[in-house]
Amino acid sequence: MQTAFSAAQLADPDIAESNRILRTCVHCGMCTATCPTFLLLGDELDSPRGRIYLIKDMLEGGKPATEEVVRHVDRCLSCLSCMTTCPSGVHYMHLVDHARAYIHDTYRRPWPERALRRVLSLVLPHPGRFRLALVGATLARPFARLVPGASMTAQRLRAMLRLAPASVPSPSAIERPRVHPAEGPRRARVGILMGCAQQVLAPSINEATIRLLTRMGIEVVVTRGQGCCGALDHHMGHHDASMRAARANIAAWMREADDDGLDAIVVNASGCGTTLKDYGFMFRDEPERDAAARVAALSADITEVLTRFGYAPTRPAPGITVAYHAACSLQHGQKITAEPKALLKAAGFVVREPAEGHICCGSAGTYNILQPEIAGQLKARKQEAIGRTGAQLIAAGNIGCLTQLGGGAMPAVHTVELLDWMAGGPEPEAVARARAPA
Ligand code: SF4
Ligand code: SF4
Repeated sequence: MQTAFSAAQLADPDIAESNRILRTCVHCGMCTATCPTFLLLGDELDSPRGRIYLIKDMLEGGKPATEEVVRHVDRCLSCLSCMTTCPSGVHYMHLVDHARAYIHDTYRRPWPERALRRVLSLVLPHPGRFRLALVGATLARPFARLVPGASMTAQRLRAMLRLAPASVPSPSAIERPRVHPAEGPRRARVGILMGCAQQVLAPSINEATIRLLTRMGIEVVVTRGQGCCGALDHHMGHHDASMRAARANIAAWMREADDDGLDAIVVNASGCGTTLKDYGFMFRDEPERDAAARVAALSADITEVLTRFGYAPTRPAPGITVAYHAACSLQHGQKITAEPKALLKAAGFVVREPAEGHICCGSAGTYNILQPEIAGQLKARKQEAIGRTGAQLIAAGNIGCLTQLGGGAMPAVHTVELLDWMAGGPEPEAVARARAPA
């Protein structure tokens, strides 16, 4: 694709990077076939190619973002399905991330939306605040359908209340900074990202991860000073807030790596894993560049680590069929497709894959709050495809997908909880629900 940036514009490293990305696009349109929003809305401007044109015009013009550009970029899930499909290697993720930051800096959203985004940014990445908000939302959940109106604000409020769980789990002692020693001879030493929303919504995921790794002879360090990976703010275009969060994590893990060594930084929420693996790029022009690149290189999804260290079950096959839902951040963002299924099969589960496995479930960070209508359609489509597999249980590697899909007829559970169970851990609560007579 031809671009027409001036020399002055190209002096900005972000513009220079976007220019490089834009020039790799050959307009072939192959990406449109696998884009969930194009699939639902049928509008070229809601396809990757259409958005690329809009972003190009916005950046080249150097003017504030228009309502039209914002509408179509906001509808993008950042699912990255287009990156898997693109034959030219267009790095759409970095392009749309730049566009979101540009929009944040140049476009004034209506005040209810500004307020909502501010609240999401102030609450979600902070487990204490999020827990309090969730308790309130859980109490208000039965009244979701009483929220009046068809406005976007009313839809978003209803979506937030519907996403609240029936009850909020108690905090887990496992969240506190400490070293979890390996059982038997130590084979490796890893850090773990405890995450933000996940540790509040489902502390059982971190518990299962640490139990399973330590049982395999891997010491796990919950490092002091770590927090949210920065993805939630990053995807809303809040560049400074996401860099602050990432900077704190880099400092915390580099202290640990330099003091006692780390063989990996384990991530069990694939949305966060995609961001951690991108720290090197995010900090490419910052003083922490080398440290950020080290953190990115150490970061590994839990299924990568379990594969590397030879996961082996100790219980007999459970006779359960699971539908493996491939989170977009895992399959498109990190290109991890084989490991989760191979591990589940090795653990004795019968694994089925729903049709349209490459299409997003509509969760996508805060997307199911900010774009409730499209997210709801994608959720229904995904649940229907999963239902057709005839499985008893959904397994996935990302808390967002589990929250989005878990409220349906089929319970949802994190892959690592199933693997931990089959290697001696407790039976996940979702398994008991799946086995209960209807
Ligand atoms: S990231 Fe997903 S929603 Fe966005 S343009 Fe690409 S395929 Fe479409
Ligand atoms: S598939 Fe790639 S090269 Fe083709 S239009 Fe989409 S982004 Fe551009």
